[in-house]
Amino acid sequence: MLDFETCNAARLRRDPAYDGVFFTAVKTTGIYCRPVCPVRQPLTRNVVFYPSAAAAETEGYRPCLRCRPETAPFCPAWNGTRATVARALKLIEAGALDEADIEQLAARLGIGARHLARLFQRHVGATPLQTAQTFRLQRAKRLLDETDLRMTEIARRAGFGSLRRFNAAFAELYKRPPSTLRRKGPQRHGAGESHLHARA
Ligand SMILES: [Zn+2]
Repeated sequence: MLDFETCNAARLRRDPAYDGVFFTAVKTTGIYCRPVCPVRQPLTRNVVFYPSAAAAETEGYRPCLRCRPETAPFCPAWNGTRATVARALKLIEAGALDEADIEQLAARLGIGARHLARLFQRHVGATPLQTAQTFRLQRAKRLLDETDLRMTEIARRAGFGSLRRFNAAFAELYKRPPSTLRRKGPQRHGAGESHLHARA
């Protein structure tokens, strides 16, 4: 993890080179952002930095609705053991922990489950299960933004075992039910475009 001064300077100049490298959490609002977030910048004394979206969420922060940090890329400059973590993150993002368990994931990576847990602690700042939950919520949020699918279908496609689990996880992170983040009205933008960028 980078030091505070490096992160702080990068987020103050909204440096895209640091997008996905660290995340800025704001203690006064409980929200975390990407370094490139267009929203008015918080005071330095109110920010804290995390190496991943999952780490920020584990500490109780929820994603900013403007810069959508839960969709930020992970740092590409990893090597050595970090490459194993990057592979694990890819597999988890693809749903590896939605059906299989940690032991099976670790076996696919050619390492033990305990070693995998240690690597995550060091490089991600969250457990593989917490990370899987972050990815599920990210998938669900994208489906809410871009489709008209029913809630039960969104829960299923996002990798939640049930609608109840989806609702509980969503409410815990966003502090509101998923239906309130659904766009109203008949017209929709194309996939990938967020309604939050549209201004009246
Ligand atoms: Zn933001």
